[in-house]
Amino acid sequence: MNIDRLRSRTMPLTLIFIFFLSLILSAPAVLAQDAPALYKDSKQPVEKRVQDLLERMTLEEKVSLLSGANWMETVAIPRLGIPSIKMADGPAGIRSWLGSSAITSAPGATRTFSATAFPPGVAIAATWDPELAQQVGQAIGEEMRSIGRGMILGPTVNIQRMPLWGRNFEGYGEDPFLAARMGVAYIKGVQSEGVIATVKHFAANNQEFERHRIDEAIDERALQEIYFPAFKAAVQEAGVWTVMSAYNKVNGAYCAENEYLLKDVLKNRWGFKGFVVSDWGSTYSTAPTVNAGMDVEMPGGDAARAWLATDRTIKAGNGGDFLSPTKVLPEITAGHITQASIDDNVSRILRVLFLSGQFDRADTSSGTIDTPAQRAVARHAAAESIVLLENAGDLLPLDAGKIKSIAVIGPNAAVARTGGGGSSLVRSISPVAPLEGIKERAGGKVRVEYALGAGIPGEDPKNDTAETREQLLKEAVTLATKADVSILFVGDSPKVESESFDRKTLDLPEGQDELIQAVAKANHNTIVVFNAGAPVNVIRWVKSVPAVLDAWFGGEEGGHAIADVLFGDVNPSGKLPFSYINEWKESPAYGNYPGENLHVKYAEGIYVGYRYFDKHDIAPQYPFGYGLSYTRFGYSDLAISPGKVSGASSFTVTFKLRNEGRRAGAEVVQLYVRDGHSSVDRPNKELKAFRRVQLSPGQSTTVSFTLDKSALAYYSTQKKDWVAEPGNFEVLVGASSRDIRLRKSFELLP
Ligand code: BGC
Repeated sequence: MNIDRLRSRTMPLTLIFIFFLSLILSAPAVLAQDAPALYKDSKQPVEKRVQDLLERMTLEEKVSLLSGANWMETVAIPRLGIPSIKMADGPAGIRSWLGSSAITSAPGATRTFSATAFPPGVAIAATWDPELAQQVGQAIGEEMRSIGRGMILGPTVNIQRMPLWGRNFEGYGEDPFLAARMGVAYIKGVQSEGVIATVKHFAANNQEFERHRIDEAIDERALQEIYFPAFKAAVQEAGVWTVMSAYNKVNGAYCAENEYLLKDVLKNRWGFKGFVVSDWGSTYSTAPTVNAGMDVEMPGGDAARAWLATDRTIKAGNGGDFLSPTKVLPEITAGHITQASIDDNVSRILRVLFLSGQFDRADTSSGTIDTPAQRAVARHAAAESIVLLENAGDLLPLDAGKIKSIAVIGPNAAVARTGGGGSSLVRSISPVAPLEGIKERAGGKVRVEYALGAGIPGEDPKNDTAETREQLLKEAVTLATKADVSILFVGDSPKVESESFDRKTLDLPEGQDELIQAVAKANHNTIVVFNAGAPVNVIRWVKSVPAVLDAWFGGEEGGHAIADVLFGDVNPSGKLPFSYINEWKESPAYGNYPGENLHVKYAEGIYVGYRYFDKHDIAPQYPFGYGLSYTRFGYSDLAISPGKVSGASSFTVTFKLRNEGRRAGAEVVQLYVRDGHSSVDRPNKELKAFRRVQLSPGQSTTVSFTLDKSALAYYSTQKKDWVAEPGNFEVLVGASSRDIRLRKSFELLP
């Protein structure tokens, strides 16, 4: 038989074979198809349901789940009853899901949605109150259920590496332990409502400058000790259902296709069983992305394609539309992606649908949002978060019975600065500005008058001319001169601190330093209250005003919360979740930001925040954990039991805390651990426990913390594991990282 005849006979056979093979591959298993639909039975174990449903799906159906249906929804498969996962932006409440923040937050935007605006992450961290973080998470979960959406894009647990990062307000500050506690609590709150929480952005999204192109060189120990712990705790302690990868590259690879991050660490080492979602427009390849462990690319469909084609998106450097079926199916055929890998992706999505109850529950949206209960949580959170930085001569709290007139001045007085800018900015239904809160609280007897004093440049062009500026300043000074007390509301706006860009300076927006100086001169009883998500430079005026409050961005109830604290209805008990510096030059990241040629080296390694200031013996303006109070607390009787700790057991640290002042209030007690004998370089001290303790005047209590070996360990890059070296450790208990009141040594036995 000649070759050509052989070919002509075997060709049809081969084609028939390929045809049947492709039918087999794309068809669901025949057996499973005939079996009763076990996956529909909510009483069956989740893994059985996942397996059963997976077996009924065609390859095309499976692959369709790998990229979104539109801006904020996954693909539904009605044939099998697989619902779409409906997402919304967080973490400080629910933002519109109908397009990018540039569209939905623009002035005059039509695609808007309003919900309760909670204080952002940095404010929640300043409460040092995980219970409250959980309440906030739960309130957001309730609102999501009310509007029939199932996945909130938050919390943000990225560490504040440097004070200029535009999104510092979204995260929980500079310390990995604090960030982990707050993140875990928020996630538990959200997920208790059957709503999927999304911990983001994995990993090390610490700057906005060139966020789509920047490659960060971070050593393994810094990743493990500083940038990973909040994510790890989210996975292992909160059981978070979704992780969002970051935009940036870490050590050479985009986070969305970073096998070390997504496969080795997240899925294999930490045992994450949920799904990974890409940040919006952060994928740059098909097979490498799927193979690295990406499960769902967002956004998807026409919405994604239209957005990716805009100049703005192209210029920013977003990438996307790589996991749509037209891209993934050929890669499977070519053998670059295995079916097992697709099965793993899909199992994860199905698992989350079953675990969250979203597969089984009918749409129960009631439409009730921004309820009095949710507003109460927002107010409580805002009030707990406020940090009293200065209070010379006990000017605060104000006595509404004694004061006759208050001058309320500043660009942030009559506007509620609810949050920073970008995808987390919630449009509140009725935000309360400080002026309103003060008027309400002061009652009819106190005269409350208002002057703008200075505009935030760019906010209203008519306030930006030299003449208007002079005029506004004059009016403010005149008002302050006549008042018993003047309260200045300054700081940032969502246009100054925002996602998509970093701040250029720690200075307050132009005109505000001058305003404070002029008003302080005119009235010695001047109080400065500012909104910011990170340090602002206070050095030019801090010595000339008796009282200063950091009010963060306060959510929709910020104005009430500020009045609560100013008039002493609530004791200021918030503490700083980062070291407060005045100058960018003081930051550990100075010299290594924004990087060169799209590379940035995290040269400070594990020495972020107070770890750096301790090591170099530098006193920041206000240290990590700092915050004054209207009352005083005494610490005594520190005991550690047992005094010699065996590696396998836990140990207890107790001490007495007493409210020695005349007002009720909470103290945030902080426990740091020092390793005095380590064979590797370790920070001088590290936060390992804390609690917010409420006490009435004269009341005392015993505070008790139970710790174990993990509180004593560092990450060994040699052993690729956490190591606690036997020997002497010290426990430091105090009111801030630089106000240690009690200390005691103990020994870790071999
Ligand atoms: C942000 C995410 C956000 C997503 C969707 C991205 O630009 O980095 O935090 O969830 O957009 O709006």
